[in-house]
Amino acid sequence: MLYQAPPPPPPPSPAPAPGPATAPAGPLLRRSARIAAKEAAKKAARAEARAKAAAPNPPPPPPPHKSETELNIAEILRFRIDDVACEVCKEFGDQCEGDACYARYLRGPVRRFDRAVELREAGDMGLGLFLKDDLARPIRKQEMLGQYLGELVPASGRGSRIPNYTYAFDLGGVATVDAREFGNYTRFANHHCKPNVGVRMAMIGRRQTILLEANRDLYPGEQLFIHYGRSYFEGRRIFCLCDAISMPHMPK
Ligand SMILES: [Zn+2]
Ligand SMILES: [Zn+2]
Repeated sequence: MLYQAPPPPPPPSPAPAPGPATAPAGPLLRRSARIAAKEAAKKAARAEARAKAAAPNPPPPPPPHKSETELNIAEILRFRIDDVACEVCKEFGDQCEGDACYARYLRGPVRRFDRAVELREAGDMGLGLFLKDDLARPIRKQEMLGQYLGELVPASGRGSRIPNYTYAFDLGGVATVDAREFGNYTRFANHHCKPNVGVRMAMIGRRQTILLEANRDLYPGEQLFIHYGRSYFEGRRIFCLCDAISMPHMPK
């Protein structure tokens, strides 16, 4: 004959919430609500003690672990795609030195570009990003200009609630780079439907980055433009006023 274990006792019912918040808050009512809350807390504590006594082997507490956010950011920062070469060493996967490559990038192309740009008034567009007038040489087509930097927000957290505004860039669907509060000069690049600066995902020292690079040769004094994407305009219900087309238009 099969032995059948008796059914486990039903879990203690949750303590009733203290008095309704909508009740008129007279002194008497408040006091009775406090008494009810105390009673409920005592009842819950008794039920907890009973439950503890009934379980002889409580499961050990879970080991301390990193929060979901920390885990996600660690994953986002590391490229796990081995067929994407590092922009600095041109090596794939583990052949790239990682942080050493990233440090090399920070000492090289980025610093050069830091000194080449400045912020200026750009008419109706507010501030704009410009190449300095006294640039020693033009920026060559496909030259790396800089990294779009911002606060890294996992897509599963606050990132999913970030509206489509100027300073947010999607990082491969896993995170948003949000430059609203933290960022660098790249966030001041205005939109143009025929931008002279391209934006692309790249790997630098095994990190996912958003790189800006010259779409063509760029000359001293030029304003630098990127393409914000059509959804930016659709989300805000605005039209583009750039001079690629003579009238207000929706970017492609
Ligand atoms: Zn590398
Ligand atoms: Zn346009």
